[in-house]
Amino acid sequence: MVLLSNIPDDVIQRSLVGECTKEDALLLLDVEPLELFSLANELRAKAVGNNVTYIVNRNINFTNMCVGTCRFCAFKDNGNGGYRLSLDEIMEKVRDAAKTGSTEVCIQGGLLPDVGLDFYQEILESIKAEFPDMHIHAFSPMEVYHAARLSDMSVKDALVELKRSGLDTMPGTAAEILSDRVRNVICPKKLKTAEWVDVVTLAHKTGIPTTATIMYGHIETIGERIDHILTIRNIQKQTGGFTEFVPLPFMPYNNKLGEELLRSGKFSTTGLEDLKLHAIARILLNTHVDNIQASWVKLGKKLAQFALSCGANDLGGTLMEEKISRSAGASHGEYMSPEEFEWLIRGAGRDPKQRTTLYRGL
Ligand code: SF4
Repeated sequence: MVLLSNIPDDVIQRSLVGECTKEDALLLLDVEPLELFSLANELRAKAVGNNVTYIVNRNINFTNMCVGTCRFCAFKDNGNGGYRLSLDEIMEKVRDAAKTGSTEVCIQGGLLPDVGLDFYQEILESIKAEFPDMHIHAFSPMEVYHAARLSDMSVKDALVELKRSGLDTMPGTAAEILSDRVRNVICPKKLKTAEWVDVVTLAHKTGIPTTATIMYGHIETIGERIDHILTIRNIQKQTGGFTEFVPLPFMPYNNKLGEELLRSGKFSTTGLEDLKLHAIARILLNTHVDNIQASWVKLGKKLAQFALSCGANDLGGTLMEEKISRSAGASHGEYMSPEEFEWLIRGAGRDPKQRTTLYRGL
């Protein structure tokens, strides 16, 4: 074990009880990386043991047409002829997912100008009618906010309706960096920090758990990354509704923000920065959010495997198709088989476990 000689005792004590402060996090980011990883790894072992989880799921991105203007987005169609799946096409993909043993479908899409809440409800109800046991993990806080606005309803009422139609959990995407300074630059028309917090808190209170994400490595400061994680911790203290935290490094290709950053000589994040972010997330969220995911799509399989020694305990899903990161330059594939997950996890000296969306029964 690496000795934690440069980490003050009081910081270690606070990390054990889930009370590390922003100052603690800044200090930890300055110690030897191996000490940081070692502390995160120990907290992970105490929280969840030796298991590393993954889920057999399928992504369905039903349209790339979008009225949004996020400057980091490489997924949205920019006038080259976008696509919009029909309900039949969505159902074909769900059937395909069921045939190959998926326990979850993850459904997200661009913001269509001409749909209301009933569009989203129809997707949910069609899936549940044919596959009542399929877990539906769908619609980002931005999509819910958009649907509620187009239907002239409150977000709370929209969430109640979506749950009634079969929504099981929501992806905690559209979080980007929870700072309005950053959001005003990278996604000025997206819901603001307080609105994201509101949608997610209301979802939890409506009985719809969510994941939590951070998209880092563009114009945010280190302090803003830490504040973001502390915001997630504060919500979790109130609701207990987050199932996992997923750090997502920014992909700089085929989007305006990335092109500007590349021109000024900034190439997204380094592997070391990615690993440190996973470790800091484990430490700040310890005792609050048990599951820290290393995204193989964003990090690549080998770095994701190493992240398992830096605080992460989950590798995400098989996906079957992945359009969003791929459009922005990720080149790690669109599908990883359960066999490959198991091989990668065993190679890290850990025990692979297929999980459900809610991490139950492990
Ligand atoms: S990130 Fe989502 S909301 Fe923003 S432009 Fe892209 S598809 Fe639209």
